[in-house]
Amino acid sequence: MGILIVDDSTDDRLLIQSILANAGYEETFVAESAAAAFRLLGLDGPRQMAGRVDLILMDIVMPATNGIEACRQIKAVERYRDIPIIMVTVKTDPVDLQLAFAAGAIDYVAKPISKIELLTRVRCVLRLVHEIERRRAREQELLEVMRQLQEANQMLLRLSCLDGLTGITNRRQFDDFLDQEWRRAARESTPLSLIMLDIDYFKTYNDSHGHQAGDECLRQVAQLISSHVNRPGDLVARYGGDEFVIVLPGTTVDGAAQVADTLRRKVCEAEMKHPNGDPVTISLGFACTVPSRVAAPTDLIRAADQALYQAKQEGRNRAKQAGVLTLVHHTHKD
Ligand code: GH3
Ligand code: MG
Repeated sequence: MGILIVDDSTDDRLLIQSILANAGYEETFVAESAAAAFRLLGLDGPRQMAGRVDLILMDIVMPATNGIEACRQIKAVERYRDIPIIMVTVKTDPVDLQLAFAAGAIDYVAKPISKIELLTRVRCVLRLVHEIERRRAREQELLEVMRQLQEANQMLLRLSCLDGLTGITNRRQFDDFLDQEWRRAARESTPLSLIMLDIDYFKTYNDSHGHQAGDECLRQVAQLISSHVNRPGDLVARYGGDEFVIVLPGTTVDGAAQVADTLRRKVCEAEMKHPNGDPVTISLGFACTVPSRVAAPTDLIRAADQALYQAKQEGRNRAKQAGVLTLVHHTHKD
């Protein structure tokens, strides 16, 4: 604990210093004037004292700058704003003390100095400083814990939106996304396309290569699809099992057909093979609509799913366009 004694009286400085030293406060600094204290603290130049100051004992009556003014100037400096200053003074009338407190002093000790009084005040203030520091450190710890919690929450949120196996968007997040895009497209009267796709003969792939290789294949297909669906507003999600779904906002049926065919080709051309050497392929169904209040997102999903079923029926490794949407649901959502 470093204590700075500012007093123009050599006797008083020595007295205070010896009282403090006898009580175990070894680290003291002395200044014989306000200007000398400013120099030590580095108020108007480089700091000239080594070690930290936890408390200042300040005489009030000093030539040139008095203790009250010195107190005010020290407190005006950001890094010393919280440093406690105890006035040590013969001037104990209420007006002077009021001025000292207004300047930022925390307490006072009357001169002539009584050892008991000085030590009691010093101990009390230093205990307060220690307590404040302890609380600050605790506050920092709490802030750090809060930051970690926020990070963990974000991670959880991300995980809750992502499919554990493939790392792409999961079904839940897809549902929310489609709902949102549906309403946006309805408001703006813009087209919304959706592609459903499913790996062909994936059961066979699993059975012959094993489940782990099947998982790897799912991951590769997910990555391949994601890398070829490029617009910022598009979304690729795992719908479940070996089924994937793609939402293409603001995209017409021709656009959806193009994307579907690109994906079909890319998967077919990739190096994934069935045991007999046949390439792994996908079948796709796509549908497009300008959403309205009388239709629902599930109508679009059903239409794409029916087209996918047709693609499977017609021999797989192909993309089929859905017919006109059959409306089952009636929604009044905006
Ligand atoms: P189709 O051409 O008609 O689609 O035939 P298919 O064999 O692919 O049949 P279907 O799509 O109905 O089968 C999906 C299979 O995908 C069933 C299951 O064995 C497999 N599967 C589903 N989820 C997973 C998974 O997370 N990992 C692995 N390895 N396989 C999965
Ligand atoms: Mg399949």
